[in-house]
Amino acid sequence: MSTHPALERLRSILIESHALGSASALLSWDQETMMPKQGIEGRADVLAQLAGLAHERFVRAETAAALEQLEAARSDLDDDALAIARETRKDYDRATKVPKELVTAIAQAQSLGQDSWQRARAAADFAMFAPSLERLVDLKRAYAHAVNPNAEPFDVLLDDHEADMSTDFLDTLFSALKARLVPMVEAIASSAVVIDTGPLRRALPLEKQLAFARSVTAAMGFDDGAGRVDRSAHPFCIGIHPGDVRLTWRGQTDDLRPALYGLMHEAGHGLYEQGLPAAWVGTPLASAVSLGIHESQSRLWENMIGRSRAFWTAFLPRLKAAAPGVYDDVDVDAMTRAANEVEPSLIRVEADELTYNLHIVIRFEIERDLFRGRLRVRDLPEAWDAAYATLLGIRPPDAARGVLQDVHWSMGAFGYFPTYTLGNLYAAQFLERAREELGDLDGAIARGDFLPLRDWLRERIHRHGRKYPPRELVRRVTGRDPEIEPFLRHVESKFMPLYRG
Ligand code: ZN
Repeated sequence: MSTHPALERLRSILIESHALGSASALLSWDQETMMPKQGIEGRADVLAQLAGLAHERFVRAETAAALEQLEAARSDLDDDALAIARETRKDYDRATKVPKELVTAIAQAQSLGQDSWQRARAAADFAMFAPSLERLVDLKRAYAHAVNPNAEPFDVLLDDHEADMSTDFLDTLFSALKARLVPMVEAIASSAVVIDTGPLRRALPLEKQLAFARSVTAAMGFDDGAGRVDRSAHPFCIGIHPGDVRLTWRGQTDDLRPALYGLMHEAGHGLYEQGLPAAWVGTPLASAVSLGIHESQSRLWENMIGRSRAFWTAFLPRLKAAAPGVYDDVDVDAMTRAANEVEPSLIRVEADELTYNLHIVIRFEIERDLFRGRLRVRDLPEAWDAAYATLLGIRPPDAARGVLQDVHWSMGAFGYFPTYTLGNLYAAQFLERAREELGDLDGAIARGDFLPLRDWLRERIHRHGRKYPPRELVRRVTGRDPEIEPFLRHVESKFMPLYRG
């Protein structure tokens, strides 16, 4: 581990804003799990204060001086220290290049935007939200210009969520993906096969569902000594420290899927957070590299492992033992089928593993066109509905189930959605490589032995934090750039036999 004096100086500065961020994370977790309802206003004030303090501690002159000193010592530094310098420079530039008035204007537009989005969605009336959205698009364009006046604005926004991604690169990737997925979805939609999801929709008390889901996360290697699980309205994972990673879940008494797959998803995120190097806490080396890589970890476990035949080979007997009598008539094939229903639908968050990506392609193309000035905000509902009709063969009956369904744009989060599909693509690439390197991975999964895979992911991905940018990380792990073929091989080999009947 590096111990250059300039590195130590920078680190002692970074640790202060990190401590404030860590306290905020714990307070946010508390807000979603434990806090009484009337605490909301007070908590919002405290979180805003802490965010302001963390920002101030980070952007002061001492940070710049320490960073410059470290950069000047470049020839003496090892790879870890060089990565810390590179990533801190990036964070520092982002935090200081945007004028304060613009930061404030964006924060105000976000809170107004969320308010008008909520009212517009309740009334299913896009026109009520359009002025706020127009303002947010303008402000985010100004933000992108402040960060990098020479770049395409949407590239800057993408880079906030997934470093080194460009609009052109995603365009190529997603167009090719779309061209292959649409015929698959059409074939499935016109197939005579109807998947019976009944085996996963049996009545089972929530405490039994949780106990079963926790036995799965234990097999995944999620360490309860370095984490915990609580209930919340929307499941999430917060990493406060690699030794303190908190997951939440929610359940439905007549459906095992939200509890089981929701918790596997969050535990996938949690394993990443537990696998970050504690020795580097406070520096970029101890944080996740990107949303796309984070999502690859959750989706790999939830969809590629959790919905596989090998998974149910190991876990159906355990489920039967945990819930005597409930699943007597169910076999491994019936359970695997039940976990893999494909159905074109309107709502992204309810979409299956296959069609989910078309929801993302639609949002990406709309955002790209908005920021390239090819689409006006007022024409958005029409563009949205047309895209759903073309790609998924269904048309939203109203704006609430169409263009107004997601909160993200009202928060000014543009360039964020693509990270979900990138996560799916990365996950398939990683898993193919893991299969090559680990030998009989499916055999191990079918025995309930997930640790070889957990350890492989830890070694190849988790422990690096932000040492390599996401695209470089994918190349280092798989030898190739992000690509669509492994994901297509995964979905074709899984769904086509199920729907061929
Ligand atoms: Zn996730």
